[in-house]
Amino acid sequence: MNEISHDVKISDHVRGLIGADDDVIGRQYVPSNEERDIKPDEMSDPIGDERHSPVSGIVHRYPDRVLFKVVNICAVYCRYCFRKDMIGVGADNLSEDDFDRAIEYIKYHNEIWEVILTGGDPLILSARRLQKIMDALGQIDHVKVIRIHTRIPIADPVKITDTLLSVLESVSKSVYVVVHVNNTREITSDVEAVILSLRGSGCSILSQSVLLKGVNDDAEILEKLFKKLITLHVKPYYLHHLDRAKGTSHFRVSIGRGQEIMKELQGRVSGICLPKYMLDIPEGHGKIPINGCYINAVLDGAYSVEDYQGHKHNYKEF
Ligand SMILES: *Cc1c(COP(=O)(O)O)cnc(C)c1O
Ligand code: SF4
Repeated sequence: MNEISHDVKISDHVRGLIGADDDVIGRQYVPSNEERDIKPDEMSDPIGDERHSPVSGIVHRYPDRVLFKVVNICAVYCRYCFRKDMIGVGADNLSEDDFDRAIEYIKYHNEIWEVILTGGDPLILSARRLQKIMDALGQIDHVKVIRIHTRIPIADPVKITDTLLSVLESVSKSVYVVVHVNNTREITSDVEAVILSLRGSGCSILSQSVLLKGVNDDAEILEKLFKKLITLHVKPYYLHHLDRAKGTSHFRVSIGRGQEIMKELQGRVSGICLPKYMLDIPEGHGKIPINGCYINAVLDGAYSVEDYQGHKHNYKEF
């Protein structure tokens, strides 16, 4: 039997949401014995970050954007985390030298248009530290967009303080905040208020969710989530197919089932509500949309296409 290797941290906010008869919140954060069951196809670096890391803290897989892993801890630990073997209290944090080298790397690569702050959770940093990062990036002309991937507005909203908001407001680049949220039950009035204040500080807000068994593997649950987000002016961006991190098989939903859910939503739910269903190809080959297939080539220029109700039609280009 293996030990459960992933840290446990549950915020007061989340603790207040864990209900006895409804496990959708608890499942995401409370460790279970199933985590000891490590399948042969599971990996400690399921999306291949290491292969594309030219200097510590930077992952440069696509020409025009980099991940900048500014911190290795989070406010809460999600049991299905794709980077669970790289984060937590025991993980090395970025040293000052690493930080300087990462900034130099970005500075000397003119093709980098967007910097994605991730980790860990970037918003766990002090306002002073975050300001330092923003100031350093602010001085690099070719960087036009700063994106922040975070769970904190959803899982520990009290950490979004006025001081932190004023740092975000001061940034000279376009700031996009991508909040990680999986079920409508996570969006309390406190969370709504924080989303409103993030918007107030000039950030555009997107969301990402992970398709998780027992949490949101159902078209009705996702429809409710995406509609709620859109009414809060948060654009659902990606629905991730679960990465194969170690000890996460109890969260797994098959790609076939995921596509079935996306097909149920397509056409029945407003287009602005629908994220792309994404697969991160193992070993660092990048992300691709796997929404499901609506078109098949029959002959040269002739296709069979499927409408949102599942009816097939012919489509000809000649
Ligand atoms: C996910 C990811 C990105 C961002 O991809 P988008 O499709 O732009 O959201 C960038 N770099 C790496 C290495 C990634 O894993
Ligand atoms: S917040 Fe993100 S990085 Fe942190 S444990 Fe959850 S999924 Fe992993």
